Amino acid sequence: MNKKAIFAVVTLGLSLISGQALNEIIFEDKDFSKDGWSDFRDISNGAGWDVRSREMGGLVQGVVQEVTIEGAGGVYLSTGGGNHASVFRLDGTIRAIRVRDGQRTVIGEAEVSGKAEVRIGFDGAFFIYEYRSGDKWTRLGKSDIIGLVSYRGGISTNNRASDMSNYRVVKLDSLLGVRFGYTDTPKIPGTPWVVHDPFRPQPRQINPGTISPVNNPGTPPSDAIVLFDGTNLDAWEDGKGNAPKWKMGDGFFECQKKSGTIRTKQKFGSVQLHIEWAAPSEVKGSSQGRGNSGVFLAGLYEVQVQDNYDNLTYPDGQAGSLYGFRPPRVNATRPPGEWQAYDIIFEMPEFKDGKVVKKARITVLHNGVVVQHGVDIPGMLGHKRTRPYREHGPGHIQLQDHGNPVRYRNIWVRELKPTQ
Ligand code: MG
Repeated sequence: MNKKAIFAVVTLGLSLISGQALNEIIFEDKDFSKDGWSDFRDISNGAGWDVRSREMGGLVQGVVQEVTIEGAGGVYLSTGGGNHASVFRLDGTIRAIRVRDGQRTVIGEAEVSGKAEVRIGFDGAFFIYEYRSGDKWTRLGKSDIIGLVSYRGGISTNNRASDMSNYRVVKLDSLLGVRFGYTDTPKIPGTPWVVHDPFRPQPRQINPGTISPVNNPGTPPSDAIVLFDGTNLDAWEDGKGNAPKWKMGDGFFECQKKSGTIRTKQKFGSVQLHIEWAAPSEVKGSSQGRGNSGVFLAGLYEVQVQDNYDNLTYPDGQAGSLYGFRPPRVNATRPPGEWQAYDIIFEMPEFKDGKVVKKARITVLHNGVVVQHGVDIPGMLGHKRTRPYREHGPGHIQLQDHGNPVRYRNIWVRELKPTQ
């Protein structure tokens, strides 16, 4: 094939698989010689040639490989594990197949005579298999990809004497848009997705931070809203919107008796909240009078903070309880003075016409131990009383002043939005 004809193939490739210009032909061999190729060998079973491509780098869409064949042969893309896509010709039949997880699927086939070209392209989500006999490219079919980060591209032929001219590998743009998964799987009930849906949104990548050892605060996840990093109370206010009167210490702040409950300036709905606290090392009082504070989700639902190390109180009012409703599953309290952590997952209640249609739900880990697990809160919580729900929206996260010098540090929150 002369240069003019090669150019025509590239042009047709662009028109068939639209959108991206070909950036770079990284391998082209009109005579099918091995010059300049990094790894080129006979396939051991004698079925033909195996050309191991260089790292492709990246691919958005376009023609991946194409080859002209006179007799038998074809091209394939292998992504390891025996998974591959190929289009080849044998006895006048051109056939496209996909092999994945040991299963071979025929994507399409056609009868041709004389000289033909075959190619595999990529449209951003699928492999595309095409052949040309005469001057027209014809689509054999397309398949969901079998995983494509880098791949080995090759030529396979039963007859080395075949005209394998015009073999090329085309390098394209970055990997943006590559999808992994299946499209021939059943729909997942209650969702718009099929099982292993390649079009389902990818979870965002975050840096998860580090957990806190007892003596040093950890670091928050990269997507958290930091409410206290040890340096200032800028994210907090008192109940009237003024600067809080709680006292700053070295990397922590401390409740001051009669200074009042403090709250976040920002209101929150459903959240993951991490908060660390320490009861006073000087033990004073008993039952509810010892190291008492509290974390109020949406300003309303109290997860009790209290020194319940060697200190009994009513079960539904101890550390890790949902105050006035539900005791913790276990008492995981550390000794007074030691830092402790709550990890709280709180889901907002939902209301319709003033009535609750989905109750608030909460999970609490105390020092890494599950003490509340997916608990539906029956109504508003409080001291010596029960109350039905009243409709509310997002609220301030509050920390209770119960008259004890409880300390807090390393506070962060992640807003929980519906997943897809
Ligand atoms: Mg309390």
